[in-house]
Amino acid sequence: MQFSLGTWTPVTDNVWVMACDPAGVNIGLVAGSDQVLLIDTGSSPEQGRQIAASVRDLLGRGVDHVVITHAHWDHLWGLAGFEGVTSHAHESVESSVEDARGEAMAELRAKLNVDADELVAPSNPLSLVRALDLGDLRVELLHFGPAHTQGDLLVSIPSRKVWFTGDLLETSGDPQFDETSSIETWPMALDGILGGATDEHRYVPGHGPVATRMDVFEQRANISMLYGAGEQLVRRGVKLDAALKAIDNPLDENGNPRPSASEWEWPFSTETVKAALPKVYAELAAHGMTPRTQLPLLGRM
Ligand SMILES: [Zn+2]
Repeated sequence: MQFSLGTWTPVTDNVWVMACDPAGVNIGLVAGSDQVLLIDTGSSPEQGRQIAASVRDLLGRGVDHVVITHAHWDHLWGLAGFEGVTSHAHESVESSVEDARGEAMAELRAKLNVDADELVAPSNPLSLVRALDLGDLRVELLHFGPAHTQGDLLVSIPSRKVWFTGDLLETSGDPQFDETSSIETWPMALDGILGGATDEHRYVPGHGPVATRMDVFEQRANISMLYGAGEQLVRRGVKLDAALKAIDNPLDENGNPRPSASEWEWPFSTETVKAALPKVYAELAAHGMTPRTQLPLLGRM
């Protein structure tokens, strides 16, 4: 995979963002009068060391605190590049580091040229909220419940009206759903950053350009719509394989709409919906909602 660092771009006074490859992941930087905070660490220990050096080049001083927004490799695996730095993450991230060292991740580690024993866990886990005093700037780290992963942290700099959202928000493409996501509760986590939001607020997503309050509203609505659409399919008795088939091919062999074809527009690309729908069905099943074949008589009631 191709590794590269972008350039530090100001978001507002003393707050910067830099996009790094692979994955175009946004790395955040907040420089208080006393201490410096970095948000996410890139994809490998070597990239972490390069990011650390780029901070010294920009500010003439090093990183004091690191926040990991969630356990995905493009945000977490650079952490070992920040030796001796206090690192903050949700308490669930530690077990993800264990998983990342395991055999199941060997292929990805090889692609990124990362050894299992290079990966380190954050030093200061937290469960809900922590405030950091950087001198003239106060930063809040908040967990609003499971969303993109089970352990997302959001970073607020209240006096600058800036949020770093991790992958709860993406503006370079669709949000990403995997088996660790919680699609039902994701919109509620976004509500946490929309409370008190003004037109001046800026949101730095995990990937893509800096966003506004309206972008957050839109992504919240789309994720909510995805879950609601899945719920309707289940209520109508549409099994997962039929629902997936209808996404690719809404018409049957005779050119008629499949009963499972949705009459709504999916809010994301076909690829994203196909990745997300099995998770939506699994979450609904955990609530006891599974598609049942309806008797024709009942179906008309
Ligand atoms: Zn992610």
